Amino acid sequence: MRIDIATLFVEMCEMVCGESIIGRACRGGYLDIRYHQIRHYTTDKHNRVDDTPYGGGMGMLMQADPIYRCYEAVTNGLKEKPHVIYMSPQGKVFNQKKALELSQKKHLFILCGHYEGVDQRVLDEIVDEEISVGDYVLTGGELGALVVIDAVSRLCENVLANEVCFTDESHFSGLLEYPQYTKPAVWHDRAVPEVLTSGHHKNIREWQRRKALENTWRKRPDLLETLQLSQEDMKILDEIKNNMIYKHK
Ligand code: SAM
Repeated sequence: MRIDIATLFVEMCEMVCGESIIGRACRGGYLDIRYHQIRHYTTDKHNRVDDTPYGGGMGMLMQADPIYRCYEAVTNGLKEKPHVIYMSPQGKVFNQKKALELSQKKHLFILCGHYEGVDQRVLDEIVDEEISVGDYVLTGGELGALVVIDAVSRLCENVLANEVCFTDESHFSGLLEYPQYTKPAVWHDRAVPEVLTSGHHKNIREWQRRKALENTWRKRPDLLETLQLSQEDMKILDEIKNNMIYKHK
C-alpha cells in the first residue's frame, strides 16, 4: 500500500513511521509512505500557508492553494486517484472496521490540518472522507493520521508475521481479546490459569472464547449490543452474567 501524508510537520510523521513494525514494513518494501511538506507548495515569498478567516473569528486557516498544489504534485501522472482523507474532529470516528476498509485501498492521501483548520473549498475539491480520532480537538491532524496509518498498516499484507496476529485481537471480531499471560508461570503468587498450561487445545480455545465474552461484557458492554452472537455464545454470556450477579450478591 502507498500512503502520502500532506503535513506541516514532516519530521514528526517520519519519526513515528520509521520505528518498529511500520518502519520495518517500509524498509522491507511492503509499505510505501511518502511525506509532503505543504509549505513547499506555497507561492508566498515568506512561505506562508495560512491566513485570517473571512467573516472574522479567532486564529488562522490553512489556505486552499498550497494544499491543492501539493495534492496535484502527488497525483500528477497517476492512473488512479488516491483515496483522500482529511483528518478532522468533524469526521466519522475511526474504528477497526474503518481500518480494515482502508487497508483494502491501494493508495491513501492523508491531509493533516493545523491552526483553526482548512479552507473549505479545497476540502470540497479533493477530499473523499473526513476521519476523526475521537470527540476532542487536537492542535493538528498529524497524531490522528499516525493513529490511522498504524492501525491500517498492520492489516496490510506482510506487515505482521501472520494474519492471526490481528484476527484474534480486540475489535476484529467485535469482541475484546481474552487476557494473556507469559512466563513465569507464577508471579507475585499469581498463577497462570491452569488450562493454559494443560496443552489441551480445544479447552484452551473454549476458555479464550469465554474470557473474550466476559472481558467485553465487563469492559465494553456497548459492543455486544450490535454483535450477532451464536446461540452457543449467548448461552456462555448468560452463564457469565449469572455468575457475576451471583458473585456480587
Ligand atoms: N476549527 C476546527 C473545528 O472546530 O472543527 C478544529 C481545528 S483543529 C484545532 C486543527 C486541525 O487538527 C484540524 O484541521 C484537523 O486536521 C486536526 N484535528 C483536530 N482534532 C482532530 C480529531 N479529533 N481527529 C482528527 N483530526 C483532528
